[in-house]
Amino acid sequence: MSNVADVIIIGGGVHGTSLAFHLAPRKTKVIVLEKQFIAAGATGRSSGLVRMHYGDEMDSRLAWESWKWFVNWKDRVGGVCGFTRAGFIQIVSREAANVLRANVAMHQKIGIPSLVVTADDVKRLAPSFRTDDFDIAAYEPESGYAMPSDTANALMNAAKDRGARLVQDCAVTGIQVKNNRVVGVETTQGTFSAPIVVNAAGAWAGQLNKMVGLDLPYNTWRHETMFVVRPTEIGPSHPLVIDFPHDLYFRPEGGLTLVGLEDGNPLGESPDSDTDHAQPGFVERAIDRICQRVPSMKDGGLHSAHSGYDGITPDQHGIMGAAGPDGFYLDCGHSGTGFKTAPAIGLCMSELILDGKSKTVDISQYAPSRFTEGKLIKSSYENVWK
Ligand SMILES: Cc1cc2nc3c(=O)[nH]c(=O)nc-3n(C[C@H](O)[C@H](O)[C@H](O)COP(=O)(O)OP(=O)(O)OC[C@H]3O[C@@H](n4cnc5c(N)ncnc54)[C@H](O)[C@@H]3O)c2cc1C
Repeated sequence: MSNVADVIIIGGGVHGTSLAFHLAPRKTKVIVLEKQFIAAGATGRSSGLVRMHYGDEMDSRLAWESWKWFVNWKDRVGGVCGFTRAGFIQIVSREAANVLRANVAMHQKIGIPSLVVTADDVKRLAPSFRTDDFDIAAYEPESGYAMPSDTANALMNAAKDRGARLVQDCAVTGIQVKNNRVVGVETTQGTFSAPIVVNAAGAWAGQLNKMVGLDLPYNTWRHETMFVVRPTEIGPSHPLVIDFPHDLYFRPEGGLTLVGLEDGNPLGESPDSDTDHAQPGFVERAIDRICQRVPSMKDGGLHSAHSGYDGITPDQHGIMGAAGPDGFYLDCGHSGTGFKTAPAIGLCMSELILDGKSKTVDISQYAPSRFTEGKLIKSSYENVWK
């Protein structure tokens, strides 16, 4: 089998597979190199929330375009992504109520089904929730969650059907550059050649940037989640929730509830550290927080807890675009929020690489040059990952 391609993608997470899926039908020979297996990194640990509520318009546009892929998955991609519509509620403190109103107006302008609801409305949507500490929330009835490993596998299978090649157990150990242009990569399975190499290596992407002498601000971010067996009085399901006052999010997963915290996510650890367990103290903190929003969770039972690593940038936004030697592109640093946007980002990246500009959504604000140009992306909400 030939090791020569038009585009080499490093990393078989949801971003590498999405890009392969969108490039392959455009007469582009694509090889995805994955050091372990599909969804072995952040994607396989992702909580899978699919919502459009953001404090930055381009983030919302990417999420909205991606939502259209999730709900039409069978026709557009094939296989399964496991999208389940459960509705999404964004809770903010009383002080942030006006910011939320402005954001919902921005979402509505884009076409996203979103509305401002009162605390009483939230109580009607989810009677088990405590609702006396906020006045309003945003509600997205069409949002939900999907299965991240299934999503990445479906994208890769469809890419393979369209001619792409996947090589697993294949770690990239070096990137070949001649006359300031990438020409290929060295791996644990030999050399692969292509004039374009895309770094979609998630929490490991900083290591790959260094291989071409690219010094971008890039860190690793560890995030824990736990699953709780939901007490029957809460009901068969509940909406997805991001709860800023408690630095908390949660969503249903069958008879379980998945819980994550927005604070206490350590930076700078090795992404090869243990992810089969949560760090000490996380479960106690997460139980305390979920019980503050849903008091009857006190009767729930701990099912399991684990963690994952994503790449994170100083403005907590992904890096998308060319940098370093000619032909080197980045699609990484998705900062703990890049699952829901991956279908559209892969499409936008394919447009950028093949046409010189993305047209589905303008992704120019995510260019790597923003760090040296001092153009960090500002969300109307404070940074959420504290
Ligand atoms: C616990 C957790 C919960 C999350 N919850 C959500 C959520 O609810 N909603 C949301 O939108 N986002 C969420 N995210 C963020 C989202 O999951 C990530 O942004 C997204 O999955 C990143 O995908 P990726 O393809 O960039 O990276 P990854 O999935 O990490 O894929 C990178 C791949 O590159 C491979 N690789 C690394 N180095 C090399 C090398 N040298 N050679 C070859 N291959 C290499 C790795 O093995 C890995 O498979 C969460 C993240 C975590 C960790």
